[in-house]
Amino acid sequence: MKKIDSKIPEGPVAEKWTNYKAHQRLVNPKNKLKLDVIVVGTGLAGASAAASLGEMGFNVLNFCIQDSPRRAHSIAAQGGINAAKNYQNDGDSVYRLFYDTVKGGDYRAREANVYRLAEVSNNIIDQCVAQGVPFAREYGGMLANRSFGGAQVSRTFYAKGQTGQQLLLGAYSSLSAQVQAGKVKLFTRYEMEDVVIVDGRARGIIAKNLVTGKLERFSANAVVIATGGYGNAYFLSTNAMGCNCTAAVQCYRKGAYMANPSYVQIHPTCIPVHGDKQSKLTLMSESLRNDGRIWVPKKLEDAKKLQEGTLQGWEIPEEDRDYYLERRYPAFGNLVPRDVASRAAKERCDKGFGVNNTGLAVFLDFSESINRLGLDAMKQRYGNLFDMYEEITDVYPGDLANEINGVKYYKPMMIYPAIHYTMGGVWVDYELQTSIPGLFAIGECNFSDHGANRLGASALMQGLADGYFVLPYTIQNYLADQAIWPRISTDLPEFAEAEKAVDAELTRLLNIKGKRSVDSIHKELGHIMWEYVGMGRTAEGLKTGIQKMKELQKEFDTNLFVPGSKEGLNVELDKAIHLRDFFTMGELVAHDALSRNESCGGHFREEYQTEEGEAKRDDENFFYVGCWEYQGADKDPELIKEPLEYEAIKVQTRNYKN
Ligand SMILES: Cc1cc2nc3c(=O)[nH]c(=O)nc-3n(C[C@H](O)[C@H](O)[C@H](O)COP(=O)(O)OP(=O)(O)OC[C@H]3O[C@@H](n4cnc5c(N)ncnc54)[C@H](O)[C@@H]3O)c2cc1C
Repeated sequence: MKKIDSKIPEGPVAEKWTNYKAHQRLVNPKNKLKLDVIVVGTGLAGASAAASLGEMGFNVLNFCIQDSPRRAHSIAAQGGINAAKNYQNDGDSVYRLFYDTVKGGDYRAREANVYRLAEVSNNIIDQCVAQGVPFAREYGGMLANRSFGGAQVSRTFYAKGQTGQQLLLGAYSSLSAQVQAGKVKLFTRYEMEDVVIVDGRARGIIAKNLVTGKLERFSANAVVIATGGYGNAYFLSTNAMGCNCTAAVQCYRKGAYMANPSYVQIHPTCIPVHGDKQSKLTLMSESLRNDGRIWVPKKLEDAKKLQEGTLQGWEIPEEDRDYYLERRYPAFGNLVPRDVASRAAKERCDKGFGVNNTGLAVFLDFSESINRLGLDAMKQRYGNLFDMYEEITDVYPGDLANEINGVKYYKPMMIYPAIHYTMGGVWVDYELQTSIPGLFAIGECNFSDHGANRLGASALMQGLADGYFVLPYTIQNYLADQAIWPRISTDLPEFAEAEKAVDAELTRLLNIKGKRSVDSIHKELGHIMWEYVGMGRTAEGLKTGIQKMKELQKEFDTNLFVPGSKEGLNVELDKAIHLRDFFTMGELVAHDALSRNESCGGHFREEYQTEEGEAKRDDENFFYVGCWEYQGADKDPELIKEPLEYEAIKVQTRNYKN
């Protein structure tokens, strides 16, 4: 087995990060540093990292595919961001956030990383408040909190249902200050197509100017990718349409390990699929589970009538409703973690209790909260989410619809699980460096902190922890001895070769001149992924899925049609590149899922479940990070294991019942 050095410093878990910072060699923002750092991505992770590195004196080259950093996918984040401030005085602490996150991830995260994340969570809130992020406040002026799944305390800071947008505007203002100061140079509408390796180190990138179509070379002393997750491999997901894994997969092809790719999060509260012309799914934030109760009918005949459209949810009285999460998990109720809630919804729908015409939906009902707190209170908390739901479905969740035995019933939302987030990603050590020296990965595109299941409101926490507080320190350990290097020339043969290979690939895709559009093949890939590598996986199904993906890849390579040329704007060509990489990623997800003969978090192998249908882990054989090494286009990837080491938390079976 190859040895993986995760560079976790010695000492008890609570002291590692403090010790670590004390040993920094180069932390002196007053130094006139001549070091260049490429940061690819301007989501919360990328923008915060670029701003912080600029402020510390580095010369930052910051890339994104959108026309403005403010349009990164992070802007879609709705519900909130966690921190262990304990403002509610409900017993929260750094340790408790650490514990909840490790437990929520089904004991498959790296313990030391999660402790560090919990520790810096409070700094993030202070930083964002200082930037002017308008977090919700209580009447007395204190920052307000709400609860998210997997926690019994209220630790989520929020700005209505637009937390990501407000946090990104904060990060963007810091970034803009550095642009103005000349420390960050922005490259919008540029896509990284490859990483350039010189003498075993990441020394630059090849990027495509998406407007002119021209390939350009950029060199730097280090490269940071913050390019988001690979959820769109499934075609239908809650991710923005532009989300892709091209940068991460190119790094993988160049030698960076991909870790735990099978850990994909399926979010329980999304607007159900309503037809085969759809290209996007919409999330209804988990925060709604603070006040919304999830249910299906108790009686199969009621479910059948709902499916036929001869009965409406609000006509079903209280005693005939099955609030199945409250029934199965009394301690956490509607606020169980996402993987648990998603599987429970699937279980009910598989048994025939689904509530819409496809049978693939459950109710999320605010009647009880509206009766108790009033509609205005709900609007204050979730106004934009209620509006969004109405715009898409033409149903307003606050509309009074019926009264039975003196109880008022309002129109409920219908929800169903959908692909939402990817816990797996590029492998990084404790310093967030990949297995290629000089190449770092932060935010959703790395695998670092969420184990097999991410708790709600912790992606923003991780992205901003990485960008504001971790990477700016750790990258300096790498850069410390890079100061002696002169600027790397982009005339080196390594740059020329990389550019030539990207150009050849673009030509190849354009010259296939087949009959199928990128979207039609992508949709088919999505169906395969959802059916065989989705919520319930089996060894047989995964093997079939891999086979079907290989066949579809052949179709892609021989029957794809990409209109236009390499010159100028060509969105179809860009999508073709993304799809090429979703194939690689999709197969990796399936290989990892097939190799992990256990169920944990979002990875549910039907062969490995308890009698009650809960995930059954096998700690004896699978207590490791699964890292995959690229072996070539026609070969299966090779698995390398990084054993997990827990010293502070006792590994046990997750329990959300009591
Ligand atoms: C609908 C929705 C709601 C969510 N709500 C929450 C929430 O309430 N709380 C929470 O904690 N999390 C939430 N999440 C998850 C969270 O939003 C994301 O995990 C997080 O924003 C990812 O941030 P990031 O910076 O890592 O990546 P992203 O925001 O995805 O940014 C990626 C960046 O990389 C750039 N990029 C990508 N590829 C390339 C390339 N090849 N070349 C150049 N640039 C490239 C893009 O332009 C972009 O700037 C939500 C997710 C969704 C989908």
